[in-house]
Amino acid sequence: MDCIFCKIINGEIPADKVFENDKVIAFLDLRPVNLGHTLVVPKKHIENLFEVDEETLKEIIISAQKVAKGIVGALDLKGFNFAQNNGAVAGQIVPHLHWHIIPRREDDGLHPWTRTEQYAEGEKEKIAEKIRGAIL
Ligand code: 5GP
Ligand code: ZN
Repeated sequence: MDCIFCKIINGEIPADKVFENDKVIAFLDLRPVNLGHTLVVPKKHIENLFEVDEETLKEIIISAQKVAKGIVGALDLKGFNFAQNNGAVAGQIVPHLHWHIIPRREDDGLHPWTRTEQYAEGEKEKIAEKIRGAIL
């Protein structure tokens, strides 16, 4: 399989690893949004959030919490973003599940989500109802 993260996991290509256990690996993003930007990745090839089993999901989140604490301590941060992209339309480039831990610094100029949308009268309630009905 031609997956760049599987190649990192298998040691075929190098990465700046910061954490590893039997299920999860974390390494620096090659093209960081901010310095210290780290990716937390399951060792199993799973494409996205829908495909991951609950056990692996728990392992990833528990590992991510450890890694984030390490990053915040090491880089003396006051905050970070924890984000995960699903699908090309959401900005997913690598189709192997991963979470981004993005260090945030005062005045770093990042505005990850701009809020320009507004609900029309009654639209919010309709959308909430539709989503409620679709959650299994
Ligand atoms: P996505 O957009 O899929 O959520 O994020 C993929 C991330 O992987 C990007 O931020 C990109 O910079 C990073 N990336 C892509 N190829 C490599 C690589 O070969 N090594 C490392 N360390 N990061 C990579
Ligand atoms: Zn993979």
